[in-house]
Amino acid sequence: MRSLPSEPRIGNKTNSRAARAPLAAMLRTVILLLASRLATSVELPKVKLNDGREMPALALGTYLGFNEHGIIRSEDHQLRDVVTRAIDVGYRHFDTAAVYDTEGEVGEGIAAKLREGVRRSDIFVTTKLWNTHHKREQVSVALQQSLNATGLDYVDLYLMHWPIGLNEDYSYSDVDFLETWRGMEDAHRLGLVRSIGVSNFNQGQLERLLNESRVKPSVLQIEVHPQLPQTSLVSYARARGLVVMGYSPLGALVARFGAPAPRSEGVLQELAKKYGKTEAQIILRWLVDRNIVPIPKTVKPNRLEENINIFDFKLERDEIQRINTLNTNTRFTLPSFWQNHPYYPFEKIDNPIPSPFS
Ligand code: NDP
Repeated sequence: MRSLPSEPRIGNKTNSRAARAPLAAMLRTVILLLASRLATSVELPKVKLNDGREMPALALGTYLGFNEHGIIRSEDHQLRDVVTRAIDVGYRHFDTAAVYDTEGEVGEGIAAKLREGVRRSDIFVTTKLWNTHHKREQVSVALQQSLNATGLDYVDLYLMHWPIGLNEDYSYSDVDFLETWRGMEDAHRLGLVRSIGVSNFNQGQLERLLNESRVKPSVLQIEVHPQLPQTSLVSYARARGLVVMGYSPLGALVARFGAPAPRSEGVLQELAKKYGKTEAQIILRWLVDRNIVPIPKTVKPNRLEENINIFDFKLERDEIQRINTLNTNTRFTLPSFWQNHPYYPFEKIDNPIPSPFS
């Protein structure tokens, strides 16, 4: 009978070690979760999509751009580290695309934070279908390739990158973007993606899509910045229930390969002074105040924080108007080499540039 008390003790000792292991793992997760919460300096607001889902109101751009050698690629997992750092300071939305060749490192960065306890449901990933996969049956295959690259089992938003279909050799394909949209609807039905939308569509193309689609597009992603405010297309898209995402939001303020030198504007300087913000922050807030989700890209830690730190002030209506008047109808993304394609969305120019893809 004496041994009775000791048995449970011995048993307790063994059991307690076994019991402590999951407890320790749980504690570690809680500590990491708390640490990542503490590092999160900005609580990102969300916007509602027409399919009932929510999207964080600012996204990190992950297209690294191009130079005279072609598309710029991440070296030594730099982008993966940018993504993990971005999550630490509050970013929850990442914009990538098959053609950027950054889906892999975006996925790696997210996976690292998921291992630390961030929930997948708190992260929003946007990626895009490239033009060479516009046939209906190619869409889900392309999306599956994007999922494999990111390591995710679904993306939150899949966009048709352009209304323009191309063959594998980059010659023009006459596949109608409505056929491509059927493929987007298939992918949606298969559960590979939560919401679907389009990018670089003009108003007429968007109207045709809205009239012919079963699943309505939730998002239109277009170029928007002070030199291209897109007031009319933004109003149209919003009136038809789409959320607009604005790419290249910093416009002429920043250096761009092949573009004129960066340019500051008096009104931006004045407002930056008034609100104690930088000109970049004024521009990003101008987008947010127009209900547009900006997609600033940076690989610099200080700018990651600068670009997300825009949710503690608001521009006045007349200040928004003043920035709108900086419009010069300048597009930094103008693929004029496709301008004879039947679904080219922009105005044609006299001297189209040669295709970098051929
Ligand atoms: P951005 O307006 O985001 O400008 C990016 C440039 O600005 C980089 O050179 C960056 O340099 C610099 N920068 C970033 N923050 C600041 C700051 N606070 N002050 C000064 N300079 C700054 O343009 P992007 O063209 O890169 O567009 C953003 C994203 O939009 C892309 O990454 C992509 O995800 C998406 N996109 C979509 C397109 C589409 O067809 N749907 C087309 C083009 C872009 P650094 O990194 O050194 O900080």
